[in-house]
Amino acid sequence: MEYLRNQNQDISTLSGVGVAAKASYAELGITTYSDLLLLSPRSWEDRSQVRPLGKLGDGQVANTLVEVLSHSYFGLKTGKKRTLKIIVRDASQQGDGRLSLLCFGRNFLEKTIRIGKLYYLYGSVSLHRGELQCSQFELYPATEDGDFPKQFGKILPIYPLRGSLSQRLIRTNIQAILSQVSQFSDELTADLKQRYDLLDTDQAIRFYHNPPTLEALEQARKTLAFTELFYLQLVARRHKGLEQRSKATGASIPSRLELACIETLPFSLTRDQLSSLKEIRQDLDSDLPMNRLLQGDVGSGKTLVAWISALHVLGKGAQVAFMAPTELLARQHAESGFQLLAKLGIRLAFLTGSVKNKERKLLLQAIAEGEVDIVIGTHALFSKEVVFHNLSYVIIDEQHRFGVEQRLALLEKARVPDLLLMTATPIPRTLSLTVFGNLNISTLHTMPQGRKSVITHLVNEQSRKRMYQAVGVEFTRGHQAYFVYPRIDDSGESDLRDVESMYEFLKSEYPSVSSALIHSKLEEEKKVSILKDYQEGKLGYLVSTSVVEVGIDIPNATCMVIEHAERFGLSALHQLRGRVGRSHLQSYCFLVFGNELTEEAKQRLKVMKESTDGFYIAEQDLLIRGPGELTGTRQSGYLKLIFASLTEDLHLIELVRTEADRILASDPGLVKAEHQMIRSVLSAAPPFEEESCDA
Ligand code: ADP
Ligand code: MG
Repeated sequence: MEYLRNQNQDISTLSGVGVAAKASYAELGITTYSDLLLLSPRSWEDRSQVRPLGKLGDGQVANTLVEVLSHSYFGLKTGKKRTLKIIVRDASQQGDGRLSLLCFGRNFLEKTIRIGKLYYLYGSVSLHRGELQCSQFELYPATEDGDFPKQFGKILPIYPLRGSLSQRLIRTNIQAILSQVSQFSDELTADLKQRYDLLDTDQAIRFYHNPPTLEALEQARKTLAFTELFYLQLVARRHKGLEQRSKATGASIPSRLELACIETLPFSLTRDQLSSLKEIRQDLDSDLPMNRLLQGDVGSGKTLVAWISALHVLGKGAQVAFMAPTELLARQHAESGFQLLAKLGIRLAFLTGSVKNKERKLLLQAIAEGEVDIVIGTHALFSKEVVFHNLSYVIIDEQHRFGVEQRLALLEKARVPDLLLMTATPIPRTLSLTVFGNLNISTLHTMPQGRKSVITHLVNEQSRKRMYQAVGVEFTRGHQAYFVYPRIDDSGESDLRDVESMYEFLKSEYPSVSSALIHSKLEEEKKVSILKDYQEGKLGYLVSTSVVEVGIDIPNATCMVIEHAERFGLSALHQLRGRVGRSHLQSYCFLVFGNELTEEAKQRLKVMKESTDGFYIAEQDLLIRGPGELTGTRQSGYLKLIFASLTEDLHLIELVRTEADRILASDPGLVKAEHQMIRSVLSAAPPFEEESCDA
C-alpha cells in the first residue's frame, strides 16, 4: 500500500473542501489525499442493473426510469399539514408497474417533480394493501440525450459520513484525486497477479471507488486486500528478532533460583503455568531468539510466570527489562516483583519519570554497570539514556496496549534476543496469522484454583437501588469495590453520570465507608498513594474513570460497578471486570446501562452477561464490530486493516502468508531482480512513529 500512502497533499486543496469539510474529514482521520484514497466505502449500491417496478416485492430496491402520473395529498385532516404523494409508472424498456412516492416533509417536490416528465428513481419499496410505496427515494431528471445522471447506471460507493460531509462531496473529491494522479505504481509482482488473478494497483484503486461491475469490484478489493496483507506479512517476517525458531530441543530444567522462588509461593502453580514456563525455558535456552506471546485471561497468573521465567536467565548473569503500558501498572509490578524476588537476592530497580536528578543518574549508572538484575518501567525503558550492561530478556505486559507498530519500533531499538509479550486480550486466530505471524504462543487456559467466576448483572435505572444495596452488603463483609465512569466532569450531557458528582452521591449512600476519587488527571503521586491505601484496605471503594482498566491486582475487591457500560467497548469491559474475581471470594460485576442502546451496545452487554471467557469475548468483539470497523484504537490495540477483513478473509490471509514465506525463503534479502519491486515498496514505507502510550 506504500505508494497509495504516499500522496501527501492536503485535502483542503480539493475544491469544495473548506473549513467545515476539513474538520469533518479530520473526524474520519482524513487529512491527505492518501487518507481519502484509502477511505473504504461502507457499502456499494448496485445501480447498474435496471430494476423495474413491476417486478418488485416488499423490501426490494427500485432502480429504473419513471414517468410522473399524478400529484395528490393524503393524511389526517386535523389541521396538520398533509403529505404529498406522487404516483409514477415505470418508463424503462423492460418494465411496467406503478409506485407511490410518499414525500414526508418534502411537499416542496410538488414544484420540482413535474407531471408527464421522466426521472431516474432509486429507493427501496414496501407493499401496503396492494400498493407499492416508497418514502426514501432519490429522483434525478432524465436528460434529452438519454445519458444517465451521475448517480445512475453504475455501482455507487457509499462512504462513512461525519459532520458536514455528503456522499456527493466525498465522491467528487475522490474522483478529483484519481484524475490528478495519472498512474499509481504497481505493488505486486506479475507472477502474483497472474497466479491469483489480481489487478494492477492502479486499476484496483480506481475500480474500488468506481467499479464498472460487481465482479470488477470484488477483484479490486481482493487485489488491495492481498497487497495490504502481503506487505504487513513481509514487514513482520523480515523484522529482526522475528525469525522463525525451530522447535526447541532437549529438556530445559528450571534453575535453582526458579525452584527457590516456586518454593516460597503459598499456592501451587496451575498446570498451564507450568507448561508455559517449560515452553519459555526451552526458548530461552535455545540459541535462537525467543519471540513468544503469553496469553491468558485477566487474573490467570501471567505476571507470575513472567517473574519466574526471568529467574531462568538471571542465573546466567543477564539483565531483564519488564515493561508495562502505564506508570501505575509498572509500579505495581515493581512492588510485586520486589516482594517475590528480593528475598532471593535479586536486585530490582523501578525506573520512572518521577525518579529525577542525582538519584536518576545513580540508577542509570547501576543499570549500565550491571548492578541491577531486573529493571521495571514504562516504554521509557527504551529511551536513549538507558543503557543496559547485558540486557538479554524483555518482558512486555499488556502488549495490546502498545500499538503494533510501536511494538516493532521497540524491538528494533532493544535488539534483544529474547522477548516475552503478555496479553489478556487474546489474539484471534486470523490476527495471529498476520502481524504476529512468527510469534509462538503459550496460553493459560485455566484460572488458579479456587477462583469463582464473576457474576455479572445488567442493571437499568429501575434496579439501580438494588445494586447499591448489594454492594453495601459486600462492604459489610469487609470487601471492596470499584465504581467506574466514562468521564471526568459534567460538561452538559445531563444523562451522563460523571465521576465527581457520583463520588459525592456515593458518599451519602455509604456514609460509613471511606473512599477516594481517582482519574487520569491526578498527579501520578496522588494516584499511587490512593492505590496504596486501597490495597491496604484503608479505602472501601474507588470511584474512577477507566484508570483501573489495566492490570491492577487487588484480590479483596469483589464488586465492579460500570456506569454507562454501553459506552465501553468489549475489551475494556472485560479488562474492567477482570479487576474483580481475583481470589477465592465470589465477585460481582454490575453493568449499568442507559435507556438508549444501539444494537451493537445491546450485543456487547449480552456477550458480557453470558460469558467470562476472554477468548470468546475477543472473537465476539471481532464479529460485532465486523470488517472495516476494526480501527487501531488504543482500546482494541488491533492494527487497522483497510481492505482486508479479519473475519472474512481467513483464506486470503493464509494464502498471502504462504506466498510471503515462499518469497522470503527463496530470497531472504529480496535481492533477486523479480523481487526488486517488493523491495522498493517496502523501502517506501514510512518509519515507525513512537507515541506516548500512557492511559
Ligand atoms: P494476570 O497478570 O494474568 O492478570 P496475575 O499474574 O496478576 O494475573 O495474577 C493474579 C493474581 O493471582 C495474583 O494475585 C497472583 O499472585 C495470583 N496467582 C497467580 N498464580 C496463582 C496460582 N497458581 N494460584 C493462586 N493464585 C495465583
Ligand atoms: Mg496482568
